[in-house]
Amino acid sequence: NKVFERKVVVVTGGCSGIGRALVLRMAQAGARLAILDLDQHELDSLVRHLADHLNAEAIGLRCDVADPEDVNRAMERVLERFGGIDMLVNNAGITHRSTFAETDLRVFQRVMAVNYFGALHCTKAALSSLLERQGQIVVLSSLSGFTPLLYRSAYNASKHALHGLFDTLRYEIKGSGVNVMLVCPGFTATDLRKNALVADGSVTRHPPLAIGKVAAPQDVAEAIYQGALRRRRLLVLSNIDWRARLLAR
Ligand code: NAD
Repeated sequence: NKVFERKVVVVTGGCSGIGRALVLRMAQAGARLAILDLDQHELDSLVRHLADHLNAEAIGLRCDVADPEDVNRAMERVLERFGGIDMLVNNAGITHRSTFAETDLRVFQRVMAVNYFGALHCTKAALSSLLERQGQIVVLSSLSGFTPLLYRSAYNASKHALHGLFDTLRYEIKGSGVNVMLVCPGFTATDLRKNALVADGSVTRHPPLAIGKVAAPQDVAEAIYQGALRRRRLLVLSNIDWRARLLAR
């Protein structure tokens, strides 16, 4: 399948977990990758891996998606290097684990800044090129974008907000040829929870949760790839008995 051959795909948070698995999947499909993440060393080693093992063309750009200037600079670099953007994957995200009452305001602000405003900044910066190329926007939401998960009020709110923003954008650009796909994975085995913020905003290393059937990031990446091929609008990947851990509604 040559649909993504030489297409320019931008993945935020592409150095770990679901983002990294998707970078590898798209590289296998022949895409050219622009990877945005926080650590230049990790970016450089992923770019080398892509070149050595998949013969893929890629650039790694250090960028905090919460910072609109960082994002604008990174997108300019992408356009200089590749001349356009065919697909933007808003994947970078952080979580926390703390009750509403004990959660510091800074945690609410940081989770919103990365998960919600990060996707907003990147989409604003890439939109004209995506419109020109009739590309696609992929947004990593979560099952908690529909039904809140306990002790993650800031995270749940950020994912609900993404649905509000991108469902509206999809409507506004209907007929432009640009597809907007919201992806809602269930629990996936990544570093997300290990790096979760605690109430005061510091990072603790939680042991990974041992619950039910947890998806591999490669499974989620494959579902996103298949969904993007078909230009789907919504992917809900409910892999476990998620309801057992949800708030009673
Ligand atoms: P992860 O922690 O393994 O990877 C996240 C990546 O984003 C990391 O490489 C990190 O450095 C990067 N990142 C964090 N903050 C950033 C910032 N400000 N700017 C740029 N990059 C930043 O997490 P993951 O599980 O792969 O999560 C990816 C996405 O999938 C997130 O949006 C997450 O909410 C969503 N998701 C994950 C799960 C799950 O169970 N793991 C379930 C549903 C949805």
